Amino acid sequence: MSEVVNLTKELITRPSITTDDAGCQQLIAGRLQRAGFACEHLRFGEVDNLWATHGAGEPTLVLLGHTDVVPPGPREAWASDPFVPEIRDGVLYGRGAADMKGSVAAFVIALERFVASHSEHRGRVALLLTSDEEGDAVDGVRRVADLFRERGEKIDWCITGEPSSKAKLGDLLRVGRRGTLSATLTVHGIQGHVAYPEKARNPIHQAMPALAELAARRWDEGYETFPPTSLQISNINAGTGANNVIPGELRVLFNLRFNPNWRAAKLEQECEAVLRAHGLEYDVHWHRGGEPFHTPEGPLRAAAREVLAKFSGGVPEESTGGGTSDARFIAPLGAQCIEIGPVNASIHKVDEHVSVADLEVLPDLYLELIERLLVS
Ligand SMILES: [Zn+2]
Repeated sequence: MSEVVNLTKELITRPSITTDDAGCQQLIAGRLQRAGFACEHLRFGEVDNLWATHGAGEPTLVLLGHTDVVPPGPREAWASDPFVPEIRDGVLYGRGAADMKGSVAAFVIALERFVASHSEHRGRVALLLTSDEEGDAVDGVRRVADLFRERGEKIDWCITGEPSSKAKLGDLLRVGRRGTLSATLTVHGIQGHVAYPEKARNPIHQAMPALAELAARRWDEGYETFPPTSLQISNINAGTGANNVIPGELRVLFNLRFNPNWRAAKLEQECEAVLRAHGLEYDVHWHRGGEPFHTPEGPLRAAAREVLAKFSGGVPEESTGGGTSDARFIAPLGAQCIEIGPVNASIHKVDEHVSVADLEVLPDLYLELIERLLVS
């Protein structure tokens, strides 16, 4: 069995459900230290983060990943134990196989090979791992990025190993992500008898036109490869269950996925302007999940496109779709960010898996990309 498959299996065996790292980072730090990397364990709250670097000066290329996995769900639903890796018909099964212990293992192998054959490479090459990507992502890369900001740490390029491929390894290159902003809105009215509406104030009637306006709004026409910004109402609750009572309150949850035409603060202002224009008495709690980021054409994107074309046999689609990722915390440091990883069809599902053939190619793919960027 190849080195990358063995290491992926060793990582799957450690049941690192967010935020428990279960020893994954110790294992990796041990290997990288032996290869000559300086390793720093950054623990914030319950979360383990690992920062491993090799070399000095500029530029800095960071490989970014997570060692935590989502819970497997009921054991009976899986064909084999989610934490006992098993290969059947050329496919490796186990929780985290695709998201993203396979990529993490491939990063480690690529880094070991890279420094073994280019000990005098230019700049720095680094690995950043967290055990809180799948959860609240509070004490993970968000905190590490704060620390980097304090230290004046400069990052030029960042490659995230999230499973980005659609049908075939390397068919998609992620070059940005939308921002995400969530609101919990409470509209206050006055409870009363439906027969005496003049003595009550109906928060449902008051909120509906404002919500209709927000839902129907055309925020923008998109931004380069980004789709238009969208607001979706996900929950709406009001009422006592009785049909003769006007409720005193209405609660709404909504979320915006937005492109680089916007910043979260500006969207908050625009939404609240609509609420005020409709005369609502309200409280709103905003949660800024992350600002959008976009990597324009440049050396990183060009190198990635060429390497993917070579390994997948076709020009990759360049996309900004999907949810968000930890790159949202690294991009604001001024880094160009892209994401390249295995096929994502099974992630977070039962019987999560990765093709052994794809896994075996992945270290070579990352290695070639690192060489193009750091060997001149
Ligand atoms: Zn992931």
